[in-house]
Amino acid sequence: MKKLKVHVKMPGPLYEKVLADLKRPHEFAGERVGFLYTTHKIIGGRMIIWINSYSPVKDDHYIYDRSVGARFSGAAIRDAMEQVITHNSGSVYVHLHNHKGVPAPSEADKNGIPGVVQSLVHANPTATHGYLILSKNSFFVRLQLPGGSLVTAPECISVIGKPMVFHYPGKRLHKFGDKYSRQSFLGPESQFLFGQVRVAIVGLGGGGSHVAQQFAHIGILNPAIFDGDHAEESNLNRLIGAWFMDILRRTLKTRIAKRLFKKILPGVAVECYDGRWQDYAEAMQTCDIVVGCVDDYASRAELEAECRRYLIPYIDIGMDVHVDEAGKSHISGQVITSIPGWPCMRCLQFVTEEKLGKEAAKYGQAGIRPQVVWPNGTLASTAVGIVVELITGWTSQGMGNNYLSYDGDKGTLVPSHRLKFLPEEACDHFPLSQSGVPAYQSL
Ligand SMILES: [Zn+2]
Ligand SMILES: [Zn+2]
Repeated sequence: MKKLKVHVKMPGPLYEKVLADLKRPHEFAGERVGFLYTTHKIIGGRMIIWINSYSPVKDDHYIYDRSVGARFSGAAIRDAMEQVITHNSGSVYVHLHNHKGVPAPSEADKNGIPGVVQSLVHANPTATHGYLILSKNSFFVRLQLPGGSLVTAPECISVIGKPMVFHYPGKRLHKFGDKYSRQSFLGPESQFLFGQVRVAIVGLGGGGSHVAQQFAHIGILNPAIFDGDHAEESNLNRLIGAWFMDILRRTLKTRIAKRLFKKILPGVAVECYDGRWQDYAEAMQTCDIVVGCVDDYASRAELEAECRRYLIPYIDIGMDVHVDEAGKSHISGQVITSIPGWPCMRCLQFVTEEKLGKEAAKYGQAGIRPQVVWPNGTLASTAVGIVVELITGWTSQGMGNNYLSYDGDKGTLVPSHRLKFLPEEACDHFPLSQSGVPAYQSL
């Protein structure tokens, strides 16, 4: 059997919480430890592990012992065992080495940790267990997959935050020569990361085709593209990469995008999914970022919910032409960045029950949707900029505005007034504790 590519994903807010918690001083213990809980799924040749909750070892479960950093009682391990049994989850034993750079296990770690992990393996052998050493800015992970031994290093560990953090332990940065010299300001790792991350585009019409073209120029080597439609005559006013012959040949939109990718970036590995994303949902669950260029609120809501569950930042773009009472047309649109743990499209009042209801009521009679190339270009370019920021963090701004509102009459793209009415609390539509494979309670 081919070796599984393992990817561990952790939500940004949880990562920050764990770091802060592990730094808290204890009355006598030299360091703090805790347990992260996970679900996992094997999809194709990949295993994705989603970390969705954390519990620190309780203060009174530490045992005084000057010879090691942290020693704790059997009660601490029993708590963790109970957790993995009750929720059928996996576990990751976590502690912090408070320095910068890639941490390595100490002698005490090597002697002490495997026994802790084995207890958890015995409690739930069907799950994946292991340990994680955090440093201030890096990771060391060892995992025991079901039926395996404690040696597996994941291919990737990522933190789903603003920006995202990607760590590929076994991979080296490669040189690209002069090809990307004009975008080297994005950071020394940026081109390497563009070559590693899996970015999906859902919908390859007026918006998605622009996104595909720009991804090719940037050097995104592992795109996954989803669309079941073929090119039609009415698409030629805006479908980037489409040729006149594609109308006669009824070329699939995924093939048009793939052709564009290949012509610009010969080394690209485009995964084409010729249908609704729901029919290829598992392929999407393995992606790192999704850009959604879909037509209606129901599709957006469904796509966002899926991305939230599987810890994938979702960037939504869309444009609309509406006619006012005087019969005059106006162009509007939006770019929304929805990151697990931060405000979602419902928090932002972009998706509401009212809009979904109205849309459902006139299902099938939406008529011809006016669409033009330049607003799609503006919105798609902005989305691509957000993807670049998420991957590289080059702006150091953390992307404050996650809802940008487009006025095509004036040609402006500004933070939406909706941002003023955001609730103070974190999003409760999609709790981080429900990330990953839906859990069942064991009886
Ligand atoms: Zn240690
Ligand atoms: Zn929300």
